[in-house]
Amino acid sequence: MSDFVYADNAATTRIADEVLEAMLPYLKENYGNASSVYKFGRDNHQAIEKARKSIAGLIGASAMEIFFTSCGSESDNWALKGTARRLAAAEGKRHIITTAIEHHAILHSAQALEKEGFEVTYLPVDSLGMVSVDAVRDAIREDTALVSVMYANNEVGTIQPVSEIGALCREKGILFHTDAVQAAGILPIDVKAQNIDMLSMSAHKFNGPKGIGVLYCRRGQFPENFMDGGAQERGHRAGTENVANIVGMAKAFEMACGEMEEKTERLRVLRDHIIEGLLKIHDSALNGDPEKRLPGNVNVSFAKIDGQSLIFDLDLEGVAASSGSACASGSLDPSHVLLAMGIPYEMAHGSLRVSLGRYSSRSDAERIIKAVTDVVAGLRGEKK
Ligand code: PLP
Repeated sequence: MSDFVYADNAATTRIADEVLEAMLPYLKENYGNASSVYKFGRDNHQAIEKARKSIAGLIGASAMEIFFTSCGSESDNWALKGTARRLAAAEGKRHIITTAIEHHAILHSAQALEKEGFEVTYLPVDSLGMVSVDAVRDAIREDTALVSVMYANNEVGTIQPVSEIGALCREKGILFHTDAVQAAGILPIDVKAQNIDMLSMSAHKFNGPKGIGVLYCRRGQFPENFMDGGAQERGHRAGTENVANIVGMAKAFEMACGEMEEKTERLRVLRDHIIEGLLKIHDSALNGDPEKRLPGNVNVSFAKIDGQSLIFDLDLEGVAASSGSACASGSLDPSHVLLAMGIPYEMAHGSLRVSLGRYSSRSDAERIIKAVTDVVAGLRGEKK
């Protein structure tokens, strides 16, 4: 598959060679349990603490505020359910604010909390997928425990005003969580400056391994435990640590933050080139904010096109992209994000997401434009 173009980096990314190399010793010779007291175990413990400190430093947190989890979904579940249950028990607060365009890890957690008797406000977004700070302000009540607004959307790439929402929540004394799974390693994060109380990340979105995430929790605001058992993660999240993945996550995050500026510039140029190319196809429209969007995100809808057929035919052309988010594909319902933005059903149904990453190149961009142009014409029966 040497000429295969991978354009689904929002779903997952290829692990960087340097990351795999950093992980291998912890899968081979250094396989001790980090809780064991002999040197073989202690070496692993030290590797975990080094990784924790490194990730903390890169988001402006302290090491004791970083908790390793099994993925971004776990971090989201823990933040939402753990905080809601803690504040309901301690302060009788049973109201949560989130948005209509969150990932299902947040939306389904919120729905689970509704079944437990919590009240959830799902904020709308505008036609570009943006949440308004005023809408957050208006939704805040006496019994609001938590506001959860994603940093950047996984489907249309819209970057939310998290710093403003953080400042508002801090002023009102309400906890603020942000799902930064699509932003971490791509956009700068400073949890202190941005008044973020909790933040979710996942390594496989920035060329790290799958199956490892982080939940940052501001000191003193730790949610109720989600995983009970041993004393790992200072008693807050049980389970023998996945040392290789933890080391890999830190290495990947260090690399992503180190190359952030250069990569952002490079991807923005490629992204805008692809958008320009795809919008030359008639009856097409860009979804999401043209400016405040992730540097690698392209999301375009085509009238009279079925998104799933588009993805299948692009696959035959050697291009891997997606329609809606990877987690939602398999269902033929149009994306909840596009519908929340007020995109007409037919256009939402014919959406294509191309997401670029560390290994995307100019020749990939040209291949994508040509393949999409040909496939759309073919599906519309316009090909000579
Ligand atoms: N949140 C967002 C915004 C995502 O895009 C994803 C994955 O696509 C997740 C959460 C879930 O992350 P994970 O795949 O690590 O469970």
